[in-house]
Amino acid sequence: MSFKNHFGSLFLTELLKGMALTGKYFFKPKFTLRYPYEKTPMSPRFRGLHAQRRYANGEERCIACKLCEAICPAMAISIESEERADGSRRTKRYDIDLTKCIFCGFCEESCPVDAIVETHIHEYHGEKRGDLYFTKDMLLAVGDKYEPEIAARREADAPYR
Ligand code: SF4
Ligand code: SF4
Repeated sequence: MSFKNHFGSLFLTELLKGMALTGKYFFKPKFTLRYPYEKTPMSPRFRGLHAQRRYANGEERCIACKLCEAICPAMAISIESEERADGSRRTKRYDIDLTKCIFCGFCEESCPVDAIVETHIHEYHGEKRGDLYFTKDMLLAVGDKYEPEIAARREADAPYR
């Protein structure tokens, strides 16, 4: 071991250097946020929890075209469709397995009627695998609850799409 290393070990110079660095930043503005009380800004394009949207008259937007199911690289979406009495086509099953989802956003990009969207919601969890299997009713409930925020974010992002 060289003299320099002996000297450093004896007088703990590395420790002193570290403490000097800590002291240098001690009184500077902090970059750390006190989450969840403080949060960083979020892009309108943030891809969080999925939602199914409705039109203003309450009709669900999804027309069961299955483009989202076809494009999903994780094969996380399962759709079954049916014809209604009025001749329109709607889903009778629309499930997303969020344990498979990689949040790529392809589903919302492919949707011709802005039905399936990824919201700004990222604070959710499941305590068992099944909790993250979102059914059509669950997705519609997310959409119903957050429609004003979803619409505002899509409008903010519209010029860039
Ligand atoms: S975000 Fe991507 S992986 Fe997740 S459901 Fe949509 S297409 Fe599939
Ligand atoms: S969510 Fe959109 S892309 Fe998927 S089946 Fe419904 S209308 Fe088609």
